[in-house]
Amino acid sequence: MEQDYQGSCHCGAVQFAVKADLNNSITCNCSLCSKKNAVMVRIPGENFTLIAGQDMLGLYQWNTNIAKHYFCTTCGIYTFHRPRSAPEKYGINVACLDGIDARALHPQLLDGASLSREAK
Ligand SMILES: [Zn+2]
Repeated sequence: MEQDYQGSCHCGAVQFAVKADLNNSITCNCSLCSKKNAVMVRIPGENFTLIAGQDMLGLYQWNTNIAKHYFCTTCGIYTFHRPRSAPEKYGINVACLDGIDARALHPQLLDGASLSREAK
C-alpha cells in the first residue's frame, strides 16, 4: 500500500516527499548499485516532490548516460535517481526516508547487471 514519506540526505540540504509502497523495495546488482549498496523503491514521477535542495544536487551518469543518479553535493549521499529503463519514474534511496530501517525490508533483487547495455 502506498504511504507518504518525507526524505532527506544526511546534511538535510536535499529534502523530498514521496508516495511509495515499500513492499516493492529492490536492490540491484549492477556495478553502480553494488557499490552504493542501496535499498530502493521505484515510484511514478507524480509521486515525487522535491522540497529543497535543487541547486545542491550533483548528477552522476555513466554507461549509456540515460539514467540520472543524483546525490547531495554537500554530504555525498545518494538520494534518488531517474532509471534508464523507466525515465518517467524515480528510484528512491529508502534509507533516506524518515523513520524507515531499510535493512528491515525484504527487497527483491533487480538484475541490473544483465539489463546493462554496455559496460557492466
Ligand atoms: Zn546533504
